[in-house]
Amino acid sequence: MESSVITQVQKEDVQVSPKTGQVSRSALKQPRSCNIFKALFCCLKAQDDPKPPTPPPSHQALLESQENGMVVKQSEFSLLPEIEAQDQGKLCVVIDLDETLVHSSFKPISNADFIVPVEIEGTTHQVYVMKRPYVDEFLQRMGELFECVLFTASLAKYADPVTDLLDQCGVFRTRLFRESCVFHQGCYVKDLSRLGRDLNKTLILDNSPASYIFHPNNAVPVVSWFDDMDDAELLNLLPVFEELSQAEDVYTQLDLLRGH
Ligand SMILES: [Mg+2]
Repeated sequence: MESSVITQVQKEDVQVSPKTGQVSRSALKQPRSCNIFKALFCCLKAQDDPKPPTPPPSHQALLESQENGMVVKQSEFSLLPEIEAQDQGKLCVVIDLDETLVHSSFKPISNADFIVPVEIEGTTHQVYVMKRPYVDEFLQRMGELFECVLFTASLAKYADPVTDLLDQCGVFRTRLFRESCVFHQGCYVKDLSRLGRDLNKTLILDNSPASYIFHPNNAVPVVSWFDDMDDAELLNLLPVFEELSQAEDVYTQLDLLRGH
């Protein structure tokens, strides 16, 4: 496997408890050493931490969450604009970028799909990006079924140009980056309650359980992807999302899919 700043993230085996819906994970690989480039991408603390995610915080804790060092009130605004006419009646799906749809590295990858220049501390670096197998087919169908939102804890200066190249059909109605996350207990959390959408009509697809620790019952877990070109997770998830797209209530439908 390519050695890169981003592959320092250890692979995770994500599991959802059939009783509680809580997500757990087990480390398959130890993280490698850190360097400054890690700051460009997602917070790795939760993935470095062998303990399972803590329970969702209390309402008061949510109110006291910090964003970029500033205390923010969670109900002051919505992250998403008004729903567009073509998406009326559709569920909203929040989709992660790194290790869910793509894998990126500062180390040259001979078969990279994209090479994106990113400026860090005054120096331009090349980021090599590989697309997860079936990502094009996946995004095209997801765009037909859902209101799709890209939500990444990575910085916009990296994730925005990558998404420009990845999403040439404009599947993502909105892109949300690190500044839209809530910084909670050392991690960037994607707080679905801030989207401005009904929570029972909102899903999140993410390889990192820490990202949806506030709303584990809205999550469709996906195994982290790095370089396995035989991976078919996205293809296999399409029938799941086809079913979910018809749901009146995602909690009920996810319970059914989990075999409850
Ligand atoms: Mg990710």
